[in-house]
This record gives sequence, structure tokens and C-alpha cells, in this order.
Amino acid sequence: MAKIGIYGGTFNPPHAGHVLAAQQCREQLGLDEVILIPAAIPPHKALADDSPDAAVRLELTRLAVQGEEGLTVSDVELSRGGTSYTVDTLREIKASYHHDKLYLLMGTDMFLSFESWRNPEQIASLALPVCLHRGRENPQLKADIEQQAKRLKKLYRCEPILLDNDCVEISSTQVRRLLFFGCAQAYLPPAVLHRIEAGGLYGLDADCRALPFDRLKEISLSLLKPTRVAHVAGCCETAQALARRYGADERDAARAGILHDVTKALTGEQQLQLCEHFSLDITEFEREHPKLLHAKTGAAVAERIFGENEAVCSAICYHTTGCAEMTTLEKIIYLADYIEPTRAFDGVEQLREAAWRDLDEGMLLGLDMTLEHLREQKQPQALESVQARDWLLAKGTKA
Ligand code: FE
Ligand code: FE
Repeated sequence: MAKIGIYGGTFNPPHAGHVLAAQQCREQLGLDEVILIPAAIPPHKALADDSPDAAVRLELTRLAVQGEEGLTVSDVELSRGGTSYTVDTLREIKASYHHDKLYLLMGTDMFLSFESWRNPEQIASLALPVCLHRGRENPQLKADIEQQAKRLKKLYRCEPILLDNDCVEISSTQVRRLLFFGCAQAYLPPAVLHRIEAGGLYGLDADCRALPFDRLKEISLSLLKPTRVAHVAGCCETAQALARRYGADERDAARAGILHDVTKALTGEQQLQLCEHFSLDITEFEREHPKLLHAKTGAAVAERIFGENEAVCSAICYHTTGCAEMTTLEKIIYLADYIEPTRAFDGVEQLREAAWRDLDEGMLLGLDMTLEHLREQKQPQALESVQARDWLLAKGTKA
């Protein structure tokens, strides 16, 4: 009797994390083979726009496991077509592996929602659920999945396996963002990256320079985490309104507003990779606090990928820190980011009033609030913020 791992997913695209997770499971559970099965139409979520068709995802998945011992790819879901229900797949696989023991590999989200799958009881009778998790880094998650394992045991009389796996902390969604920014190398098997680049897949062949605003907005929002969309849309509208109030270019304000956090979904490590990709100089302070780099990398993306003008790019670049000699647009984006309608913190109303009364007064108050907050948190202050404040005071701005 062989032990066979079944690893389904959209593999859109397949990445290094998938390969590593499959290999770790194979070793930890002593599996003879792990079969990766790209879904035709996933039951739980829609495929992202710009996804290549199923045959291409299959090809990419085959490229991802090329030369990987014990990993194979099956087209069972793609040739069946339609919505890919795991229960149907397991029945088909079981027919060819009827003497073998099947292990169904899945991430924590899928494990926690196991009862909502089609025919969970039958799934559990055909294959043993295996939950891959990083519980040692997240005790609450560990408790949740242990609870779920108990529930499934009771419901379906199976003994799910919980595998602490150091799966690369990356999702296909994040890989698609990184592909767009041009720095996905670290997360993709070379053959997969090569095929994506050669075929211009995932929108890599699109020219994003000088897009009409609606299209720019659509792309920019698609690169954000869903929780940040309202903030960015709010910042964009507030920036436009402030531009109208202070006679700045409304078009530039809207474009800078919609792009200001475009790289915010990247981790600190990915921010550093993007700086390297764009050959951006960074300070020691930024290297130690790489999440702050999203302003700088956002400006680089605005310039190099979207072809935005210098006024827009510099407004994005200084939106978190400010700087000395700020332009009107730079002040507008700094303040719009701070006071847009979803912001709710002590003092936001006072800051809104100041920003609408006088741009420099708003700036000074915003900088004071930030610097004070950092002092309280015993966090280092950005030099640019201190310089911006000194500059405003030197030109007689009222506090
Ligand atoms: Fe930001
Ligand atoms: Fe922001």
C-alpha cells in the first residue's frame, strides 16, 4: 500500500511555497508521491482577472515540479471541467489507486471551513485531511485548528493530521502582485517565471503608462489588500477635493491619491527586493524599518510602471514623512492620507479643520501629531518629518 498525497489548488501561478509545502509533507508523512491537481473552476473563490486559461495553469504546474522527486501533476480536474469538487476528484483518484492510502493536503483556511465543502463526510472517508499550518508562530490559529480537528473527528470519524510546516509565507495573490512590480524571482521556480515572462502572462505584456484614470484606479486597487481599498479610495477623493480648495492640479491629486499606497501590500523583505529591483538608494534607517519604504517604492512604481509625472511621484514619495520645501501637491497627499473619511483617531476632526482652513497649518499639526505619537511609542522619528516641521516653523506657520 502506497501513501499518496493529494494537493489541490488553483496554482495561479504555482510558486515556490507550493513546491516546498508538497516536499515537506512528503518527507514528514513518508508519502510515496504527492499529486498536484490544478482546479478547473475552484468552488470557493473566483479566479483573479488576468488569469491564464486552465491549460496554461496546468503547464505552469508541470514546470513547477520539474525535477522534484516524488511530485507529479494530474489533469483530472481540468479534463473533467466545470466546478472542481474535491469529492469528485478523490473518487476518480481512488479508482486508480484503490489499494493505496490517500492524504488530502490543505492550508488552514480550507481546513477551518471543511464542513462547508461538498460532501465532507465522503471526502473524509476517501482521504485523510492534513492541515498544513504555521501554528508555532500563531498560538490562536493553533488552538483553532486543534479545535477543528476534534470537531472533524467527531463528525466524520477521521483523525486529521496537523502538520507544522514552514511553508514559504507567500500566496499566489502576493506572487501576482510581485510579478506586476517585476520582483517575483525569489518566489517562483525559474522555469515557471520564464514561461510567465515569455508568454506575457498575468498582464505582464500590458503597457501601463499614461492610463486613463478609471483603468489606473482599477489596477491600483487590485494590487491592495482588500482591507486597504476604502482608505485609498477615500484618500484619492479627499486629495481631489483639497486640490480644488487650494487651486492645485486635480488630475495629479487624484492620480497620486489612488497610487500612494500601491506597494503597501508587500512585506518589509519584499519592499527591500523592490528597492533592489529599481536600484533605489535607501538609508540605514529605512533598511531597519523596511515597511516605511512603501512611499519610496510606490513613487518608483508610479514613475517606472505607470509613467506618472514628477509632481505625482514626489507627492507619493513624501506621503508618510513630509519633507522640507514641500509642494502644494505633496502637502495635499500627506494630509489626504491622514484625514480621509475612514480615518478615526483622537484629534482627526481637529486635523481636518486645520487642513481645510490652511494647508500649512494642517501640515504642521499633522507632523506634530506624528512626531508626538512616535515619541510616546519610543519609535525613531524620520529625519524628513523633523525637517518638514522646522521648515514650516521657519516660514512662520501658526501652530
Ligand atoms: Fe501610506
Ligand atoms: Fe495611505
